[in-house]
Amino acid sequence: MLIRESVPLAPHTTIGLGGPARYFCACATPAEVREALDFGRRRALPVQILGGGSNVIFADAGFPGLVANIAIGGVTFRALDEGEVEVEAGAGVPWDTLVAESVARGLSGIECLSGIPGTVGGTPIQNVGAYGQEIADTLTEVDCLDRARLAPVTFARDGCGFGYRRSRFKGADRDRYVILAVRLRLRHGVRPVLRYPELAGAVARRGGVDTAHPARAIALVREAVLELRRGKSMVLDPADPNARSVGSFFLNPILAETAFAELVRGRRAAGERAEVPAYPAASGIKVSAAWLVEQAGYHRGFQRDGVGLSARHALALVNLGGTTRSLLTLAEEIEGAVFARFGVRLEREAVVVPAGAASR
Ligand code: NAP
Repeated sequence: MLIRESVPLAPHTTIGLGGPARYFCACATPAEVREALDFGRRRALPVQILGGGSNVIFADAGFPGLVANIAIGGVTFRALDEGEVEVEAGAGVPWDTLVAESVARGLSGIECLSGIPGTVGGTPIQNVGAYGQEIADTLTEVDCLDRARLAPVTFARDGCGFGYRRSRFKGADRDRYVILAVRLRLRHGVRPVLRYPELAGAVARRGGVDTAHPARAIALVREAVLELRRGKSMVLDPADPNARSVGSFFLNPILAETAFAELVRGRRAAGERAEVPAYPAASGIKVSAAWLVEQAGYHRGFQRDGVGLSARHALALVNLGGTTRSLLTLAEEIEGAVFARFGVRLEREAVVVPAGAASR
């Protein structure tokens, strides 16, 4: 495996920020992942795992160790009983390639996750979700390499600690495992369920799914999701400056009912009439982070120091030729403004590497 020196990291990320990696390699097999970890250990260097670069922001100074890009490919489909199909994919497969292949085979379960950038291996980490589907709905197993013991380990879904945009891989076991492969269980002959009115509307405009053959209905949902995401610049497009982002920079906060009631009371007291966009969630009430950001005074299209907010979505911080430092300064300001106005602490979905790389 080739390990190169002084490799610019920005081109390996969707937001296009960050300095060089001291060392960089692409790992096409689990054995090469071991080799990369071993290289870091022998030289006492940190090793950063990189997938599709769609959720990561590297520091302007770059990364002082080895960046290991996971490039393990391969997708297999295995028919099980009763219309179920087991899909196994290498961690380096582009996620949307897997969705497209599954939809083309008439398989349902991940069609609402169309157009999400990044690789298969990144999806369990934050339990990626969109339009009412999340990877935890269909995932059965995750194959990993334990970084400390260099030993393989497989987690069944129940062992992954999935929650709203969360998992053990992002929580207690952050950076402990390298994800090598993922297995999902998808279904044949099932009509998609449309949980989000925005998606249902886009599907209805394309003729609806009620009378369509199930395979056609699934394809229709994919087309509609791609159209919606494109309209928000949430699909990779090098020609679209609004897409030079990490997608949603902040998570939608889930508030306890009392905290939500407090927020609503505060707004009423201030004479605000507009409703707070909120949805029931498993552990409280989910509030739209994009709405909080705009209400705190940061609007779509805002620009400063070469960074800003996408003109099409307030949650996407965009790089317009700036630096990581200017982006993180803006992020901190937005966090401060939302907290000052609503008492809500926004949590970042994007990961900054090295951890703790600060804006100043
Ligand atoms: P939006 O319409 O601006 O709405 C803001 C948030 O409200 C959404 O993120 C969504 O939460 C929630 N929401 C809207 N309608 C809902 C409903 N009927 N039931 C429950 N929750 C509802 O949303 P958006 O930012 O354009 O995103 C559209 C979808 O794409 C969302 O599902 C979003 O999560 C997804 N997306 C995911 C990623 C990612 O996983 N990294 C990145 C970009 C967009 P949820 O986020 O919980 O769905």
